[in-house]
Amino acid sequence: MADGQQAPYGLTEPGLWVERVGAQVFARGVPALFLDRDGTINVDTDYPSDPAGIVLRPQILPAIAAANRIGIPVVVVTNQSGIARGYFGWSTFAAVNGRVLDLLRAQGVFVDLVLACAYHEAGTGSLGIADHPMRKPNPGMLVEAAKRLDLDLPQSLIVGDKLADMQAGQRAGLAQGWLVDGEASARSGFAIRRLGDQDDLDGLVAAIENLGRGAGS
Ligand SMILES: [Mg+2]
Repeated sequence: MADGQQAPYGLTEPGLWVERVGAQVFARGVPALFLDRDGTINVDTDYPSDPAGIVLRPQILPAIAAANRIGIPVVVVTNQSGIARGYFGWSTFAAVNGRVLDLLRAQGVFVDLVLACAYHEAGTGSLGIADHPMRKPNPGMLVEAAKRLDLDLPQSLIVGDKLADMQAGQRAGLAQGWLVDGEASARSGFAIRRLGDQDDLDGLVAAIENLGRGAGS
């Protein structure tokens, strides 16, 4: 631990944080809205480590609200190699992430599960692992979330700002991902949709609402 004596409560192994937020109960077999964090929920300031510096990206709020409204879980899946690199520790992650969740709550939208992966080849000791199955573009965090919440992965969506987010979605068996300021493309049964202007955002909200029609309600 770089900045704490005791492991924060979300830590399930040296490089993986899994935190259930709130007590919302979901139907079995529902899809989820997976969200990358930095650059997707909040402005990415390169390894954010100051809770006071966190600024939300307002474009994501209607998507989270839609998932909340139709009763599907919102799951944050975030690579946090800054921990492996020694820039900050899990306690700092907890403070920053808590701030993100607080700011979302203040906007009336809610996250249900947070997974964070600290493993990275640049790290030392137990965190210094290349291509760890939990680190995006690998699907480990999505698969772990699916186990914990009994999710329908093929029906789930992921929103992210990096190709690694899309690849993690594809490898987890999702059918579509939404790439912030990216380019639309499709291959091997996985569609990447661009998330840029208001029409795109409306399309994402419609796609989420569409999930509700088959979501155990
Ligand atoms: Mg990101």
